[in-house]
Amino acid sequence: MTRALADEMTHDHAGRLARAKAECSAAGIDALIITPSADLRYLVGYEAPQLERLTALVARAADGPVLVVPELERPRAASTPAGGLVDIVGWRDGEDPYALVRGLLADGRTYAVSDRMWASHLLAFREALPGSGFLRASAVLSKLRVRKDASEIALLSKAALSADESFRRITEEGLEGRTEEDVARSLQRHLTETGCESAAFWIVGSGPNGASPHHEPGDRRIGASDTVVLDFGGRAGGYCSDLTRTVSVGEPPGEAKEVHSIVQEAQEAAFRAAGPGVPAEEVDRAARRVIDGAGFGNAFFHRTGHGIGLDEHEDPYVVEGNGQPLEPGMCFSIEPGIYLAGRFGIRIEDIVTITGDGVARLNHAPRELTVVS
Ligand code: ZN
Ligand code: ZN
Ligand code: ZN
Repeated sequence: MTRALADEMTHDHAGRLARAKAECSAAGIDALIITPSADLRYLVGYEAPQLERLTALVARAADGPVLVVPELERPRAASTPAGGLVDIVGWRDGEDPYALVRGLLADGRTYAVSDRMWASHLLAFREALPGSGFLRASAVLSKLRVRKDASEIALLSKAALSADESFRRITEEGLEGRTEEDVARSLQRHLTETGCESAAFWIVGSGPNGASPHHEPGDRRIGASDTVVLDFGGRAGGYCSDLTRTVSVGEPPGEAKEVHSIVQEAQEAAFRAAGPGVPAEEVDRAARRVIDGAGFGNAFFHRTGHGIGLDEHEDPYVVEGNGQPLEPGMCFSIEPGIYLAGRFGIRIEDIVTITGDGVARLNHAPRELTVVS
């Protein structure tokens, strides 16, 4: 058994399918149609690539779930938890898989499709079921996925600790004289050597490049007294990590030190504001109050955070306008930043989880401005 499959076995997929079915019935949705995505992995433990050939879980409110797969993918699908949970129906090249799905459903009904289904598949379903209405599956699945259970928090925590340890290793290595690309390669290796099955993304923004929050690592050589934004994560059992720390190569210039302490204070204020029952936007406001108060409001031009799980970015979003109350089991990032174009950027990001009576950090890397060689 692969490590990824062993991790999948820790989840209660049958319970998830049953809850999805109940939510669909309550919402007047006749079936979910789920193509390869985090939704598919969440429901039946099958991690499949998005392809032009149709793979779709058809989870009907009034009948058993069926997984439609290209015949050549059937052995692979059957070897995952899906094999013990759903009927697997194969189709061969030259056959019409949308007609096959139509045969499992009735027209004139309401169906919910994965939010990240390719348009080519959705348009084919609309042609096959012209009298039916289509909604986003997040209308029901977000309710399930947004609250993580113990098996999910264990994997998010494992991924977070891997990111923490990767950060420790990169600071030990030192950054001066290296290119951003070289540092990014090291981060990827550290993630896979410390508990993640894969690295998911890596941002290394040195000096002025740090002012672009999603900077793509390039050939810039990191110099003395540069600040460097390191934002990276990997996956453990499919669950993501996402850690940002900003370090200084040698003693930081006074202004970088000052801006860093403002961001750290904002990050702490947002963390302290979070807890069960608190609207998500209040966490954003807490961070923003600190940064606005210090006169850098215009330089903090993104939301404070995003939920995290099988997707790097998912509900709940920590943003003005999202009054959704935080609930135990929700996991999300707190990542305020200040970006001064042409000069430098500072961001500090942890993943946190809402508990029964408060909030806990999954990351424990030091948040102070770390000086590296
Ligand atoms: Zn980002
Ligand atoms: Zn990040
Ligand atoms: Zn993030």
